[in-house]
Amino acid sequence: MKHGNSGLSAYGTTIFEVMSRLAREHGAINLGQGFPDGNGPDDVRAVAARALEDRPNQYPPMLGLPELRQAVAAHARRFYGLEVDGEREVMVTSGATEALAACLLGLLDPGDEAVLFEPLYDSYLPIVERAGAIGRRVRVEPPGWRIDPDAMAAAFSPRTKLVLLNTPMNPTGKVFTQGELAAIAELVAAHDAFAVCDEVYEHLVFDGARHHPLIGLPGMRERTARIGSAGKTFSLTGWKVGYVTAAPDMLAPIARAHQFLTFTTPPNLQAAAAHGLGKADDYFTGLAAGMQAGRDRLRAGLERIGFAVAPCQGTYFLTVDVRSIGFTGSDLDFCTEIVREAGVAAIPFSAFYVERPPEGHVRFAFCKPAAMLDEAIERLAAWVSRR
Ligand code: PMP
Ligand code: GLN
Repeated sequence: MKHGNSGLSAYGTTIFEVMSRLAREHGAINLGQGFPDGNGPDDVRAVAARALEDRPNQYPPMLGLPELRQAVAAHARRFYGLEVDGEREVMVTSGATEALAACLLGLLDPGDEAVLFEPLYDSYLPIVERAGAIGRRVRVEPPGWRIDPDAMAAAFSPRTKLVLLNTPMNPTGKVFTQGELAAIAELVAAHDAFAVCDEVYEHLVFDGARHHPLIGLPGMRERTARIGSAGKTFSLTGWKVGYVTAAPDMLAPIARAHQFLTFTTPPNLQAAAAHGLGKADDYFTGLAAGMQAGRDRLRAGLERIGFAVAPCQGTYFLTVDVRSIGFTGSDLDFCTEIVREAGVAAIPFSAFYVERPPEGHVRFAFCKPAAMLDEAIERLAAWVSRR
C-alpha cells in the first residue's frame, strides 16, 4: 500500500482533538479545546432553525448570502468606522479555518515567505507549507508576550509575501498594541506584502480596551484580509461560519481558492450570523464582560492554588507556568497527568511551537460557566495538595 502524502497527512492529530478525547475518556472538565459550554444566543439559533425550515437549502452564492455580506460590512462600519462594500469586498467561508486556508492558498506561491508569530495557532504553518511557502517565525515571549522589533524586522525579506497576524492572540491572550500594529503595517508596506489578519476574538478584548483591526491603519486597506468568525462572536463554535473582508483585487485570488475548498457554507447558518451581527451593542459588550468575568474567576482560583498566571488581555485563554507549583516534568506531562489524576484538561504550549517552546507552560480555557470553573479549580487544588 502507498501512504498518505508527506504534507498535511504527516502531521499528528491536532492537540485540541487529542485533549478533548482524553477529557471524554477520563470524565475530565475540558478547559483544553476552546469552546464555550452554552448554546449561544437564543434568537440567533431561532433564526437558523426557521431558515432551515422556510428557506432554500440549496447552494447559496459562492461568496455568501448577500444579507450576511452586507451585515459584515455594516458591522465593520459600526465597530471600526471602516467603509466596506459588502458586494465586492466580503466573502463568507466555512469558519475562520477555511478563510485562513483560502487566504494562504490563494496568495502564496511556492518559495514565498510568510511571517508568522509564534506561538502559532495549529493550522497556520501546515497550510503555509502546503502552499509551498516558507514560514518565518517571530517569537513572543512570556510572561509579557512582547515582540522584539529587531527580530520582527529581520523576519521580513524581499521574498515576504504576507504576514499572518492573530490579535487577540490564541494561545497567549495577547492583544497587539497600537505601536506594534503600526510597526507591522510599516514592514508590510515597505515589503509590498499582504497581511492576513485572524481576528476571530475581535469581540473578546478585556479591561475596557478596544480591538483595532490592522486593515484600518494607513496604507493597509488595499493589502489586508480581515477574518472574523461567527463561532466566536456568537459562542457557537460548531457552526463554522467565517467571513473575509478584503479589497476586491485581494479578495479575487482568495475567492479562487475558496471555490475549490468548500465553495459555500450552509445558508441557514449564514442567515443567522447576519441576524447576529446586527444585534444591539449590549450583546457585544455583554459577551466581553461575561468572558472577562470567567478570566478573572479562573485566574483567581489558579493563583490561590499557587500557579503563576501570565497576563491575558483577550481571547478564551489563560497561560500558566506549571513550574510555579514545583512541577518539574514537561508541559505535556502536566496535561497528561492532570487529565487523568485531577480530572481537568488543558493544552500544552509546546503544541504551538516548532522548536524551543517555553518550559512548563499550559493553556486553560475560561469560556465556561462559573460552576464549571469552580469545580475545575477545586479538582486542581485537591490534586496539588495530594502531590
Ligand atoms: N483562528 C484562531 C486563532 C482560533 O482560535 C480559531 C478557533 N477557535 C480559529 C481560527 C478557527 O475558527 P473557526 O472555528 O471559525 O474555523
Ligand atoms: N480554536 C480552538 C482552540 O484553540 C480549537 C479549534 C479546533 O479544535 N480546531 O482551542
